[in-house]
Amino acid sequence: MRAVVIEKGEAGQKVSIRDFSEAELMEGDVTVRVSHSTVNYKDGLAITGKMPVVRRLPMIPGIDLAGIVEQSDHPGFKEGDAVILNGWGLGETHLGAYAEKARVKGDWLVPLPAGLTAAQTMAIGTAGYTAMLSLMALERHGLSPSAGPAIVTGAAGGVGSVAIALLARAGWHVIASTGRLEEAAYLKQLGAAEVMDRAELSKPARPLAKEKWAAGIDSVGSHTLANVLSMTKYAGAIAACGLAQGMDLPTSVAPFILRGVSLLGIDSVMAPKALRLEAWHRLAREMDPNKLAGMTRTIKLDEAVQAGRDIVEGKVRGRIVVEVQ
Ligand code: NDP
Repeated sequence: MRAVVIEKGEAGQKVSIRDFSEAELMEGDVTVRVSHSTVNYKDGLAITGKMPVVRRLPMIPGIDLAGIVEQSDHPGFKEGDAVILNGWGLGETHLGAYAEKARVKGDWLVPLPAGLTAAQTMAIGTAGYTAMLSLMALERHGLSPSAGPAIVTGAAGGVGSVAIALLARAGWHVIASTGRLEEAAYLKQLGAAEVMDRAELSKPARPLAKEKWAAGIDSVGSHTLANVLSMTKYAGAIAACGLAQGMDLPTSVAPFILRGVSLLGIDSVMAPKALRLEAWHRLAREMDPNKLAGMTRTIKLDEAVQAGRDIVEGKVRGRIVVEVQ
């Protein structure tokens, strides 16, 4: 089968598309014929080696897949079932989705959500499913649009684009923070009410600043998250899911102890199945298919390596679907 393979080269890690023997697939009780995958930021980190997300070599990258069960020893799935998989170490510790087949644990699989096609689930992908987990966390915290605006950082990226569409549909006044002001029309079409220059948030933060939003979905981290926290209204909350600016968080306790602000951590990789099922059920209902199509571009497997390089350079707008077969 054809696969994108990361392996040891003469000068460190090399990435190529080559034949990969099915016999070399790792242990699992379900074999899936992969129809679609996608390009997430983490796939870019794996392909470029910019951060050590790949934990074994050779590795097939690709943290998300959609496909059809070819063979199953798992009681929950049978041949012919349409399934998706997000995370669980796929493309990091377990051979991933950029291949015509994947052998995985049935416990990791979720049935294809009713109302979505395989391609649409991958247009949403881990990025969009994480945006939904973030929205759900804000709601669990008791926040609603009446509390005030919601900020989305990394707005033109994958998590950001889906987050804007979901928050806007839920009735939030969305402020989109981007370094690509030329994408203002795109962000407004997704549902942003205001667009701000990310430069306003990317320098070292003061402990507290003027209160501007009640909620937020941050995929950027570092000084950006510190500034976002310092500008969050009393009793507001920010869902933190990413590190596009950096893994550090140079902040103080001031927003937490003087304004009762909360920081909600979001992890998609190990999220329990019940939460995944709820997130995908809601995505099938709440993700506007036209907005999804408007933020998505489709490529072939051969183009996935370049797309992975582009995403870590911040050159990708919205989402990318990879047609694997
Ligand atoms: P994208 O590359 O699509 O989006 C990231 C966006 O962040 C960019 O488009 C850009 O938006 C902004 N950005 C990039 N570099 C910087 C910088 N130096 N300073 C400020 N902003 C920057 O990636 P994804 O949306 O797929 O992922 C975003 C982040 O979320 C990643 O760090 C990823 O690892 C993380 N993530 C975490 C998950 C979890 O389970 N916690 C799951 C999915 C993703 P703009 O051009 O609009 O400024």
